[in-house]
Amino acid sequence: MLEKRLRFAPSPTGPLHIGGLRTALYNYLISKNQKGKFVLRIEDTDLKRFDKKAEKHITDCLNWCGIFPDESPMKPGKFGPYRQSERKSIYKKYIKKLIDSGKAYYAFDSVDDLDKLRKEKEKKGETFIYNWKNRENFINSLTVNKDENKNYINNNYVVRFKSYDKDDSNDKLKIKDEIRGEIEIDLKLQDDKIIFKNDGMPTYHLANVVDDHLMKISDVVRGEEWLPSLPLHWQLYESFGWKKPNFAHLPLILKPTGKGKLSKRDGQKFGIPVYPINWNEDDNIFYEGFKEIGFEKTAFINFVSMIGWNPGNEDEIFDLDELVNQFSINRIIKSGGKYDYEKAKWFNIEHLKKISNKELIAQFEGEIRKQFHKIIDISKVDKVIEIVRERVEFRKNIIKEIHSIIDYNISDLKENISKINFNSELEEAIKLLLKNLKEIKNIDTIKNFYFNEMKENNIKIGDGMKALRVCISGKQSGADLFSLINIIKREIIIQRINNSLNTLNDKNWNS
Ligand code: GLU
Repeated sequence: MLEKRLRFAPSPTGPLHIGGLRTALYNYLISKNQKGKFVLRIEDTDLKRFDKKAEKHITDCLNWCGIFPDESPMKPGKFGPYRQSERKSIYKKYIKKLIDSGKAYYAFDSVDDLDKLRKEKEKKGETFIYNWKNRENFINSLTVNKDENKNYINNNYVVRFKSYDKDDSNDKLKIKDEIRGEIEIDLKLQDDKIIFKNDGMPTYHLANVVDDHLMKISDVVRGEEWLPSLPLHWQLYESFGWKKPNFAHLPLILKPTGKGKLSKRDGQKFGIPVYPINWNEDDNIFYEGFKEIGFEKTAFINFVSMIGWNPGNEDEIFDLDELVNQFSINRIIKSGGKYDYEKAKWFNIEHLKKISNKELIAQFEGEIRKQFHKIIDISKVDKVIEIVRERVEFRKNIIKEIHSIIDYNISDLKENISKINFNSELEEAIKLLLKNLKEIKNIDTIKNFYFNEMKENNIKIGDGMKALRVCISGKQSGADLFSLINIIKREIIIQRINNSLNTLNDKNWNS
């Protein structure tokens, strides 16, 4: 069997958004699932829209996600160069072939003239189209004589593809998409698209087809927005007499509302990330990426993989290798997939659960020691991690979360202690607990002790726990109370309870 070779072929006209990343990911997954190759080709033929920061953003995103190409501009294989701007001479050869075989022709019409015609048509609610019906009314190599032709070619020209000719035996074209099935195209309605521009560059269509052929691409998997280009690409393959790859056009990623295609503006509108990593647009609009928000890359990939695909059962959590094993083109969903940010965060929480305590300890122990050594019993760092890891959406919030459960400040205390109905029994129970804290050897016995106290003095468990929590943390809620007692140094707990009871009884403040 021929080796599967799939490619991701972005145009460096802007940053890589989540839709582009999904295309890259699907191509990677399909190629790896079939033990094939994944190629990155930079399609930089559009000089006007070229953005010099874009290629770096694209490769940084792929690197972060661990989607490493087997061949790319940075890692050339035997089909290079992998940047289209470096392949100009190749395209010229193929343009000549099409012109010589009569499948393409030079066109010399001025942009202004065509614009005028386009506008006139638009005014009438019609679309301007340059094709078999009217190409003879324009200035092109089919209408001017040989000398004029030469003259024009020396100056300024584009090359157009002849989509249909009156004499063609067939005006219907059957094309096939792996996701949508067979589609029939009326060639009489096709435009004679420009395949070579007056700046000496091929257009996307020609370069893309030539390169896919020369790079032996077996499957073209790309966004739905390229489906309208498929008839032309199909015809180009046929004109060259080349074997076609399989084509699959991925459904759109929809806005969080489910209506319409997700755009970068939705990032600001809904306050959601649309790029895998940060992007600074024109150095004034800043888009925070999934990476910088704190997403685990495995969670991000998992989230993206499931917008438009599922494994056919209830399973949802996959790492990259598992996705490689599971992925198949025939489980790609035909309709658009909604971008659900809450779901993205859910994936992150699920992937966070898979990270070992050991890894988190290794990452955070230094900082925990630095910031909390006066308060936390450092021999219990593992317990600290165990408590906070379940309380955060993102791993980067771990230190902040430790602060939120550990910190004790007077303003919180004053606010919360006033809300507690401290009767004498309750205060007495806490005083006894304080005494017990000073005497016991094993801190784990404190829970039983306090529960007995509450029972004997008819204190409701809820009231007793709330009061003790406020005394120890100044707050009304937080991590499991006896876990907190376990990790905070004993002398600190004693100090805090003393201080809280003093605050409670401070007549100046209390009255
Ligand atoms: N250069 C095109 C893009 O920017 C590639 C489309 C394709 O994959 O054929 O999306």
